[in-house]
Amino acid sequence: MTGPLPSRRRLLKGAALAALPSALLPTARAQAQARAVDYPLAEWRPASTSNYTGSNRPSTYPVRYVVVHVTQETYTSTLSIFGDPQKKVSAHYVVRSADGHIAQCVRETDVAWHAGNWDYNTRSIGIEHEGWVDRPEYFTHALYEQSARLTASVCDRYGIPKDRAHIIGHHEVPGADHTDPGPYWDWVRYIRLVNFA
Ligand SMILES: [Zn+2]
Repeated sequence: MTGPLPSRRRLLKGAALAALPSALLPTARAQAQARAVDYPLAEWRPASTSNYTGSNRPSTYPVRYVVVHVTQETYTSTLSIFGDPQKKVSAHYVVRSADGHIAQCVRETDVAWHAGNWDYNTRSIGIEHEGWVDRPEYFTHALYEQSARLTASVCDRYGIPKDRAHIIGHHEVPGADHTDPGPYWDWVRYIRLVNFA
């Protein structure tokens, strides 16, 4: 992103936009954004292609779970980590604490590396929430509400039951050595919001 030369892709995109009448630009941009994300309210902030496995879900693997995470990093740092090809980690979505803004980093067709368990990675959507397991002030109403809407959308689109057997914490993934989302995550509130989203 910060290199001296624009990428070929960026040049091509620029050329394509330049060919359009200026009055159509906002619509064209909106349509391009809509195609890039699976959840219309998300902003596309792609992870490095070194940090997930390309796939063609749900043909390749059924999507059966939503895995809830807490980042232990800021929203901005999390996006940087997912963009770093050395880090070997990613999630499909990251939800920002202050306002519930959502970034999509990996397409839902692809297998993000978030659960620490290949079988669960292949069969889940991973959602990271900005915050720390021991700092409940990060779990704002906006974060719960916007995340719940996202999870409801995922469940509706893949036919996933909106319950605790299918919407699970990272700590519930077999073999996981992580504790997130931790004891302050309000599961009752979250599942209720998902069901009434
Ligand atoms: Zn986690």
